[in-house]
Amino acid sequence: MITNHIYNQYDPQDPSPRDTVFFFRRGEVLIRTLPSGEYRCPTVEEAGSQCLRYLFRIDDTCYFMREESETVPEGYEYVNIRHTRTLSPHDLSFAVMTGYHLYQWYHYHQFCGRCGTRLEHHPRDRKMICPECGHAVYPYVKPAIIVAITDGDRLLLTTRPGHDIRALVAGYCEIGESAEEAVSREVREETGLAVTDLKYFGTQPWGYDANLMIGYFARVKGDPTPHPDMNELSGAVWVPREEIEDQAIPSLGSEMIMYFKYHGWFSEEVPSEEYFRF
Ligand SMILES: [Zn+2]
Repeated sequence: MITNHIYNQYDPQDPSPRDTVFFFRRGEVLIRTLPSGEYRCPTVEEAGSQCLRYLFRIDDTCYFMREESETVPEGYEYVNIRHTRTLSPHDLSFAVMTGYHLYQWYHYHQFCGRCGTRLEHHPRDRKMICPECGHAVYPYVKPAIIVAITDGDRLLLTTRPGHDIRALVAGYCEIGESAEEAVSREVREETGLAVTDLKYFGTQPWGYDANLMIGYFARVKGDPTPHPDMNELSGAVWVPREEIEDQAIPSLGSEMIMYFKYHGWFSEEVPSEEYFRF
């Protein structure tokens, strides 16, 4: 359920003591686990107001990232960024994931891709500018599809090598193809199946990988026997609705699996906004 709103336009604010600071390093974020089991990130009061880069605001709290930090506030530790998926509060995990999306963009765009000069921050817009040749670099979002393949009251769930979590088929949209074409191609490549009757479910920003996930339901067409690509998957099985397990970790894929478990084929005309964020 959405209880907050992200203001992601580039409108840098001065840090106030209770705002939040993300310390990122490759694949990790600095957190502290509270006695309640929930976690938090440092405040400006704890982190100091130097070297902060404004990210966005959620309701009345501004979020910053600390650049070039060799020291960190006492009592905090770095954890794998994806570990925050499993932690509460989920709205902080959404902020961490989205901040990490921006961190990666800043981190990997320090030099001009055209002439190699060090890029500079544009004073008013979220973009990096080359002072030598004028080349401008904007934040990017990579679209990817996720698809609930159904056969009557059965849902196709897949596993990947090294993971025991059952998940939906997903993959990147390639250049020159629509999201719907990406669904057909990914399903064919990963499972050997054909699909029809695509039904849009909704989207979700997924900042860990700079993605926008685009969710569809689809019906299998023809022979329903999966032939999984064993380079990508370790298995693909049809699971009856009543045997689908509840999903503990919030994501678009989890929402789709749970929707099918409790309602069957997705038939709402206007997807509800509340499905698609933490
Ligand atoms: Zn340049």
